[in-house]
This record gives sequence, C-alpha cells and structure tokens, in this order.
Amino acid sequence: MKKIIFNVCLLFVNISLFAQEKSPLHIQHLTDNFYVYTTYKDFNGTEFPSNSMYLVTQNGVVLFDTPWDNTQFQPLLDSIYSKHNKKVVLAIATHYHDDRTAGLEFLRQNRIKTYSSQLTYDLCEKHNEKQAAFSFVNDTTFNVGNYKFETYYAGEGHTKDNIVIWFDDYQILYGGCLVKSTQVENLGNVTDANLEEWPLSIEKIMKKYANRKFVIPGHFGWSNNKGLEYTLKLLMQNN
Ligand SMILES: [Zn+2]
Repeated sequence: MKKIIFNVCLLFVNISLFAQEKSPLHIQHLTDNFYVYTTYKDFNGTEFPSNSMYLVTQNGVVLFDTPWDNTQFQPLLDSIYSKHNKKVVLAIATHYHDDRTAGLEFLRQNRIKTYSSQLTYDLCEKHNEKQAAFSFVNDTTFNVGNYKFETYYAGEGHTKDNIVIWFDDYQILYGGCLVKSTQVENLGNVTDANLEEWPLSIEKIMKKYANRKFVIPGHFGWSNNKGLEYTLKLLMQNN
C-alpha cells in the first residue's frame, strides 16, 4: 500500500512537471504547405516569442529567418524532417538582428544555402552577427519546387535593411520585424529604427501588396491580417 501511494505521488509530480514545461519550439500550420515556427528568449524575466516561417516544397524546405534560441537549431531541422520527411535546402534572413540570423552559420554548416540582402550581409558583419553565404542586391524572386516568392525592400523601418517576403499565389506577407502584431501595445525595440521612414515603407508595402490574406509579424500573434495598418497606427501615435 505504501508503495502504491508513493507511485501515485510520483505520477502527480510528473504530471505537474509536464504541465509547467513549455515547448521551446512551437510549430503552427498556416495554410497549404506554410508553417509558422516560434522560438523564445528570456527578456527581463519573461519569455519573449520570435516568429519565423517555413515552406515545404517538393524540392525541400525553405526557412524564412532562423530560430532565435540557439538551442533550437537542430531540433527545428529534426522536427521538420520527422514531420515532412524533407530536408531544409534554403534559408533567407530578413534583417541583421539575431532573432533573424542567429542560426545562419549552423544552417550553412548543414549544407543549407543561406541568403540575405547585401545590405543585411554588410550590417551582420558590422554588428558581429552571423552572416549568410549568399546575398542579393535587388529585390529577388526565388523559385523552389512548385513555389515562387519574392523579396521586397520598401525602405528603412525597424532597421535599415528590413525586407519582407511575398507569396503571390497565397497572398501571404511575411513581414518580419517591420510589421507589428496587433497583440502588442508599442513598437518594441526601436534602437536601430528609422521612425520617420518606417511609415512610408509600410505604405509602400500596402500599395504593392494590396490583397493580403495573411500577415506574419516578427513577434507575437498573427490571428488577423491587419498587421500593416496596425503598425502604421502605432507609428502615428509615436511620431
Ligand atoms: Zn525582431
């Protein structure tokens, strides 16, 4: 009887431990073969989420930005392989901060082709962040498997170099940190931001990609497609 009580207690401890444990890598299906993945870093004692995305094609998986949490590089590749039975072949970083670039060197070592704009490449070097192996100077269209997407640099905003990625067939705007989630109350980290130019960049994107079904911000939720409008509102309040 004593043993049974002990076992029951042990079970209870295990369950409560399990309930407290939060997954450090969170993968959510977006639409079609698109997935948003989130990793976390401690920020003033609270877990701060960072969103990235991946796309599964017949020719392999494409990452849009790397995990922020450097313990999740290998778990991400493992999760993708076990979920889709496909390897990651390409990765594109959307600006030079480490929530976009931390995994670039790891990915490169794993024979994944890593890309950023030339501007991002140069800023990574200047600020001692991990760099991509390849860079592009102008807005570039990528074709991978049966998917097509384009990079777009609208101007400065959250950083000098922030680009967005557009998937025309699915009307997905991957905004990165240029776009704020409607869940947040402020512009977040603006240390490297250009607050004068940021609204103009947002307006250019809104005009270029007028029909947006999904808008993915760099941090927090994307439950609606109003990220650009909301970022503009936050910028107007700020200026
Ligand atoms: Zn960010």
